[in-house]
Amino acid sequence: MSFTSAHGTALGRLRGVRYVSTRDSSGAPGRPFCDILLEGLAPDGGLYLPESYPEVNAETLERWRHVLRTDGYAALAHEVTSLFIDDIPQADLRAICERAYAPAKFLDPAVAPVSQLSDGLWLLHLSNGPSAAFKDMAMQLLGELFEYELERRDTSITILGATSGDTGSAAEYALMGKPRVSVFMLSPQGRMTPFQQAQMFSIDDPSITNIAVAGVFDDCQDIVKEINADADFKRRHRIGAVNSINWARLMAQVVYYFAAWLQISNDGRPVSFAVPSGNFGNIAAGHVAKSMGLPIHRLILATNENNVLDEFFTTGVYRIRESAETHATSSPSMDISKASNFERFVADLVERDGDRVAELFGVRLREEGSFDLSELRSFRDQLATHGFVTGASTHADRLHQIRRTYEEDGVLIDPHTADAVQVARSMQVCGTVVALETALPVKFGETITEALGIDVPRPAVFDGIEALPRYVVELGNDAEAVKEIIEAAPAGAASK
Ligand SMILES: *Cc1c(COP(=O)(O)O)cnc(C)c1O
Repeated sequence: MSFTSAHGTALGRLRGVRYVSTRDSSGAPGRPFCDILLEGLAPDGGLYLPESYPEVNAETLERWRHVLRTDGYAALAHEVTSLFIDDIPQADLRAICERAYAPAKFLDPAVAPVSQLSDGLWLLHLSNGPSAAFKDMAMQLLGELFEYELERRDTSITILGATSGDTGSAAEYALMGKPRVSVFMLSPQGRMTPFQQAQMFSIDDPSITNIAVAGVFDDCQDIVKEINADADFKRRHRIGAVNSINWARLMAQVVYYFAAWLQISNDGRPVSFAVPSGNFGNIAAGHVAKSMGLPIHRLILATNENNVLDEFFTTGVYRIRESAETHATSSPSMDISKASNFERFVADLVERDGDRVAELFGVRLREEGSFDLSELRSFRDQLATHGFVTGASTHADRLHQIRRTYEEDGVLIDPHTADAVQVARSMQVCGTVVALETALPVKFGETITEALGIDVPRPAVFDGIEALPRYVVELGNDAEAVKEIIEAAPAGAASK
């Protein structure tokens, strides 16, 4: 199936875009976009992927270059997402994108601008949204899509999530003021940075409940799992998820790879992207963009000391870590022991053999905590085709890159971006390289101060947020207590 169309018109849409689970080998017909939007995880435990990736040719890319220049990021987002969504009328989808990427919501009206450092490395700025992390790029669109579809189905949803920092605030800024969505967000008491706590807990919205759990992130995650395992409770409260297993988040992220290339590569030449990775969501979107035909030379995967992914790409062995084995680092949003989105890439690696994926993720990983793909027919060829190269950075590397970038260019980068910059600068990939900036330095001020001995200047919108009143419930590590809070909130929290 190919959706290539010189005029980017409805050719592909007429033929339908359908989604299948990574673990499905049945050949049964796939599901339309809006069904999987509200569902999140597939019933068989797999993740949804389009049956095949729509293809984009050089002519379409040239047209999109014009679209981005003249009509802006939201218009490009509409072009790209319309290739993945055939069950929302075009005019509605355009309006959804315009609301999600309204320039006024972003510190820079270009939404995802690029800049170049003096050594030639480019930065793609993805953290100009309301929560100052790149997760806004996907969450803003997800929020609008949810609202649209819940309205259309005249129903509501309860979002129950766990956050170690960035996901929670991005979700809350995207979902606040949406009466059909109520949010219950668990975070580990006292473990987020003061800035992150202030960002989340200062939100005063009747449909948003912050719950600080006495425990670590994994305890929060376990409570979410436990509540989701109560099928009756889950159904009664229509519990949904906004973590990166939701295909819509990945799809939204595909757009900025196109936006970066269109801004940088005037001659059509390929560029490479360096991506600071944890759950593999960001770079998985780069893989999708490359699969669609965007000229990407290398996808440079950067990890911190938690190098599960680097290890896989080097050895072919994927071995998840116990939480005790997970290092607490200065790029905390990448302190991941099990990359929730990785299954999507592996599905492509084994050429969508659903039985194989089910065996790897549903059996091997669960029983043994690891699997080995080094024997996969042409494992190295496959990786080369997909363009992946990887590297890991340390705390000292991040401090060094924060210093170097500041001293050479007067540019402040956050520690996650510094992971990408470190690996990009050490890899010697030829041609143009773009490092993805995933958070503003103000979010992780302590590390910037450690590197440079200065206080991080903060954008005016964040002035004094630590002093605002806090809206947060403190709880023990207790799923029943969380259930009681959800139970007590009137359904359709508008009236709460
Ligand atoms: C979430 C996050 C990452 C990691 O992205 P993944 O999609 O999980 O790989 C990197 N940097 C920041 C600042 C983040 O919030």
